[in-house]
Amino acid sequence: MSAQHLSQALQRIEASPTTAMTDRASELRAEGRDIISLSVGEPDFDTPLHVIAAAKAALDAGDTRYTPVTGTTRLKEAAALHFRRDLGIAAEARDVIVTAGGKQAIFEALVATVSPGDEVIVPSPWWVSYPQMVRFAGGTVVPLRTSASDGFRFRPSELEALITPRTNWLLLNSPGNPTGAVFSADMLRGIGEVLRRHPQVLVLSDDIYAPLRYSDEPHAALAALCPDLAERIITVSGVSKSHAMTGFRIGVATGPDWLISAMGKLQSNSSGNPASISQAAAVAAFEGPQDFLADWRDAFRRRRDMVAARINATPGLSTPVPDGAFYCLVDAAPLMEPFGGDDGKLALHLLDNGVATVAASAFGGRDGFRISFAADEAVLDTALDRIEKALS
Ligand code: GLU
Repeated sequence: MSAQHLSQALQRIEASPTTAMTDRASELRAEGRDIISLSVGEPDFDTPLHVIAAAKAALDAGDTRYTPVTGTTRLKEAAALHFRRDLGIAAEARDVIVTAGGKQAIFEALVATVSPGDEVIVPSPWWVSYPQMVRFAGGTVVPLRTSASDGFRFRPSELEALITPRTNWLLLNSPGNPTGAVFSADMLRGIGEVLRRHPQVLVLSDDIYAPLRYSDEPHAALAALCPDLAERIITVSGVSKSHAMTGFRIGVATGPDWLISAMGKLQSNSSGNPASISQAAAVAAFEGPQDFLADWRDAFRRRRDMVAARINATPGLSTPVPDGAFYCLVDAAPLMEPFGGDDGKLALHLLDNGVATVAASAFGGRDGFRISFAADEAVLDTALDRIEKALS
């Protein structure tokens, strides 16, 4: 098919680089190549048994039909519990929408509200799909650049300097992908003060990595800290990252009624309800035992320490030690010459050497690559050996 058939909206976007690299790694593996994939953010732990049991029970009970488009009441109640218990957000079931992964919630929120000419402030480095979704909706991406020296966090004044009368969203992601940056409660309160001066700005707070923080501070969520702004904050969460349920495709979001309804309208005309079996499994994830999350977090912390230490001991590579999530954004600036300054070529070189990563430029960064350390320590160790050798 020729490009002339493609809509203008589609022509403004590219395929997701994270999923493209992961698909490529799977293809190479299927061809018999020995590839370690550190390209996608997907916990390697087994999905908890009580979640699997709930999915099986749903199948056995004949739970195999349409559910309400925006999710079952049962799951909305469980998700509201999650928002209250884990994020401190005063959510009720009626304020929740259930989507096919957090990704769909973000897509719907943006497509439901962004019109051509609207400006969306996206802190960079960003998760790959944020700018694509904004462009698809016809909006203009306004990057809010952050750097490793600031821990990839921006100051309220830097945010305010970018706000114009056309700004309609700020995208927040803490803990962040791909940097692992975490905003403290004080930082978020400072952001809240700026937002109070600019009532046209909505906030999408992507808190999907909330359980994956490596300090003992409780998770800080903007909607919990600034309840007076609740009418313009949507908070996105889910079970994919926290409960190793990426394939179930369940995301949840809570926000003002007008926006949740608008998202539901879109969903009713596109995917319809999220999978019934997955919804039953997600109820078990939110309502079942949560104590294993602390063990998983400890395992991620050990991996993080190991990966960051090895990267920082490799000549030409450096990374801050991330405070949350399971990614390291690695700077390889001193090693870029053989790749003509193109970190896409660097990522392909690493792939040729048996490790799939994603180029920093895919995240609005440069001269580096992202590693997901959601793999076991022995695998990470081998991957780091390969990276070291490939770049020596
Ligand atoms: N969010 C994950 C990542 O960044 C999953 C892949 C994706 O949807 O981008 O790797």
